[in-house]
Amino acid sequence: MQKLSGKTALVTGASRGIGRAIALRLAAEGASVAVNYNGSEAKAAEVVEQIRAAGGTAFAVQADVADAASVAAMFDTVLKEFGGLDILVNNAGITSDGLLIGMKEEQFDRVVDTNLKGAYLCMQLAAKRMLRQRSGRIISISSYSGIHGNAGQANYSASKAGIIGLTKSAARELGSRGITVNAIAPGYIDTDMTSVLSDKVKEAILAEIPLKRIGTPEDIAAAAVFLAGDDASYITGQVLEVGGGMGL
Ligand code: NAD
Repeated sequence: MQKLSGKTALVTGASRGIGRAIALRLAAEGASVAVNYNGSEAKAAEVVEQIRAAGGTAFAVQADVADAASVAAMFDTVLKEFGGLDILVNNAGITSDGLLIGMKEEQFDRVVDTNLKGAYLCMQLAAKRMLRQRSGRIISISSYSGIHGNAGQANYSASKAGIIGLTKSAARELGSRGITVNAIAPGYIDTDMTSVLSDKVKEAILAEIPLKRIGTPEDIAAAAVFLAGDDASYITGQVLEVGGGMGL
């Protein structure tokens, strides 16, 4: 029995990595999925094709989540196509690492605009619709760095900590209308974002993970499906750390 039959979902930054895995899992559980991408049209089309080949429903929708007009146009398209929205996954994110003392204002703004403002813009439009429906699930991808901090990632950590505050406040505001708002804080997950790290850094991170393996996008997708489904209907305002015990 599919857990999300009849549900509609929008996943931002879903052309690759964690977003792609979440889109595929949501679709495998029966949800119709809008696959957002910014620049990677061909990769988003591949995700859509994979979902359709498995008998699911999906379409690709372009938007830069840091741009309000672009996000508004995306929601117009998604709501027209689906007639509503049950699940929003704020996954789109970037890094631009550097030590605080040398961090450029542009570098700070770009990361916060994409990771935090992007989540706010999408959350606001999703919430407007979900309030009318009196139901909905909002899941945002925070990070271990947003909880514990990380040297060289002041901008990224600030954006990911901001997602936690956004999540908790929205959970308080929207709970009475049957909408849950939660965050997932991945630890170290093997994607393009982390492939740039040196082997030495990767080994040092691995040494800090009690479960002794690097996480996969599918580990995060499993948590997202849980939070999107009925089994999580009494969970809101929470940050689920999925990192093999990293940071304990
Ligand atoms: P990734 O770089 O493979 O994927 C990020 C996706 O976001 C890409 O598809 C990219 O095109 C999209 N994106 C970036 N800017 C965008 C914009 N302005 N508008 C729309 N889409 C945009 O990285 P990933 O590891 O799959 O990361 C996914 C999420 O998980 C991010 O929010 C990231 O911060 C978070 N995260 C990742 C890790 C990890 O270890 N990989 C750990 C903690 C949190």
